[in-house]
Amino acid sequence: MTLTKPTRAYKYTQEKAASVYHRVMSETLLPKSLDYRSAASRGSRFHTRLSSTELPRVDALLDTPGQIVADLGFHEDDQRWAHVTGHVEYTIELACDRCLEAVVYSGQVDVDGVIVSDDDQAANVPRRFEPTIVNGVELDTFEFIADEILLSLPQALHCARPNCIAQFQSGSDEYNRDKSRDVWRPFANLKH
Ligand SMILES: [Zn+2]
Repeated sequence: MTLTKPTRAYKYTQEKAASVYHRVMSETLLPKSLDYRSAASRGSRFHTRLSSTELPRVDALLDTPGQIVADLGFHEDDQRWAHVTGHVEYTIELACDRCLEAVVYSGQVDVDGVIVSDDDQAANVPRRFEPTIVNGVELDTFEFIADEILLSLPQALHCARPNCIAQFQSGSDEYNRDKSRDVWRPFANLKH
């Protein structure tokens, strides 16, 4: 019995150390500008939390600053394509398309792309990957994240305010047109 405890404790310490190491590794701060080739050859991983104020094109859509969390990893494949994978999560306030009041929207994007430095390379990227073209050797990571967010925004966003719903449930042509665009109804199951 006396041997068991130290063995367990040792194992626990090792596991704990490994998990702390993993956490430190996965939380390397994302630089705003990144040598993507070097990051890919080293297999670098980055974590970052941003305010939307750091992404001007996203911030331009918002009245109040939103929060963004991004985990991005870089790796090189057998053909030496530089891949970026990971995900971006964000919580922002957008305007309801019907009543223009604010709606909190949380989005998630899975990132899976290949980075290239010119159109010729982009044309040769295997079809299953989405190429991102950068100028020179540096990837503007904040611009990259902004693109991912902007492409993932819903086509239409409708709030669940009773007044807003009632106003457009009149059976009017406007409501019917509006309904056809209603691709995002997170509270639809609460309407009953
Ligand atoms: Zn509304």
